[in-house]
Amino acid sequence: MRFDVLTLFPDIIENYCSYSILKRAREKKLIEVNTVDFREFTHDKHRHVDDTPYGGTSGMVLMAPPIFEAYESIEKTDDFEFIMLTPQGEKFCQKTSVELSKKKQLILLCGRYEGFDERIRIGLKPREISIGDYILTGGELGALCIIDSVSRQIEGVLNKVESSLNDSFSEGLDGLLEHPQYTKPREYRGMKVPEVLLNGNHSEIEKFKQEQRILRTKLRRPDLL
Ligand code: SAM
Repeated sequence: MRFDVLTLFPDIIENYCSYSILKRAREKKLIEVNTVDFREFTHDKHRHVDDTPYGGTSGMVLMAPPIFEAYESIEKTDDFEFIMLTPQGEKFCQKTSVELSKKKQLILLCGRYEGFDERIRIGLKPREISIGDYILTGGELGALCIIDSVSRQIEGVLNKVESSLNDSFSEGLDGLLEHPQYTKPREYRGMKVPEVLLNGNHSEIEKFKQEQRILRTKLRRPDLL
């Protein structure tokens, strides 16, 4: 899987992808993360990527030419998806993550300021994705959410211990939230690990976990049931 991120702040992407699971996945060549700074595609002396909007609203809008040229400079595979990070897009979720992980390449466009000149949407026809109903300063956090969660779906990225099979929302858990987890010590400040988890009876343990998943999902996210 190859990720190409169009951004004015490549270091944000590079930095996050240089730690932990993503770092290892890059070293093992399971994923490739490239950044393209679209400021490099400006032609004026001051390297402007934004300008005031027509019609007089406040703030600055990202101009079409540098983004078109930066997008066109990216080498495309035969199976890529071009994604614009925007609060106006479809909401990102685990199902979308699994779907995107089947692609060979994701090109992720990060906005800044007041967002994009509409002709970027009209001309380049990206798939528009939001990471939630709130406004961020830039698209980099959204791009990283996608890179991180999509990478976890790629075979070999997680080892057995980190396996995503038992994560909340996963097919392995029928889309439910994960059961509560405990580790050592057995008792802490009067709070005890439930007895059933200590008795070694695997069918009882599995029954307990499944009941807890259903209960937790009912209480916290009934929409998932
Ligand atoms: N004025 C824009 C609007 O109302 O749709 C929001 C601009 S926002 C301050 C700047 C950039 O941050 C956006 O172009 C987008 O790339 C990114 N962004 C902000 N919130 C986001 C979200 N919830 N999901 C994905 N990207 C987001």
